[in-house]
Amino acid sequence: MLNIALFGPPGSGKGTQSKKLIEKYNLAYISTGDMLRAEIAEDSELGKRVKSVMDAGELVSDELIVQILEKKIKNLTDAEGILFDGFPRNLVQAYILKGLLCKLNTELTAMISLEVPEEELMERMLKRAELEGRSDDNPETIKNRFRQYESKTRPVSGFYREMNRCYPVDGMGRVEDIFQRVSDVIDSL
Ligand code: AMP
Repeated sequence: MLNIALFGPPGSGKGTQSKKLIEKYNLAYISTGDMLRAEIAEDSELGKRVKSVMDAGELVSDELIVQILEKKIKNLTDAEGILFDGFPRNLVQAYILKGLLCKLNTELTAMISLEVPEEELMERMLKRAELEGRSDDNPETIKNRFRQYESKTRPVSGFYREMNRCYPVDGMGRVEDIFQRVSDVIDSL
């Protein structure tokens, strides 16, 4: 199986690249952010619990993330691998992912990290706020999401670097060019 975790700060283009990658490589897509937003849209019990956390730009608890992942993993079709977008977000989740893939008799092939300078990120996020109207894309929440990323999520890249599974990719420029760079990494695995 080809199991990829797409990694990078908010606004680095993970969602955009994911859509193209799942199609090209026939991967199942697991975006914890999309799954949480779906729970909110359904107004489920879980959705009610996570809304205020997401609106504040904080990370949802690992326990809830495990709950939604287990739901999804049961319904995996016969894809050729899994693309994780926005997960793992901290070191505990990196271990959760390891266990989850181990249960499926597989492991993470690569963690691909989209590298984008912070000034560019803020600009992209504000543009997205105008286009998509995501309730957590306002300047205050965005700042907190960056803080969460720096303190909790960035250390995850070190975890995979130590295992020689971390592949940084320049996330600047045209979507197609970034996609080519990411594809080149995957094709070289
Ligand atoms: P995203 O769509 O990946 O940018 O996620 C949007 C928000 O959902 C984040 O700011 C968090 O509040 C929450 N979230 C998404 N994925 C996770 C995760 N793996 N762990 C904790 N919180 C998450």
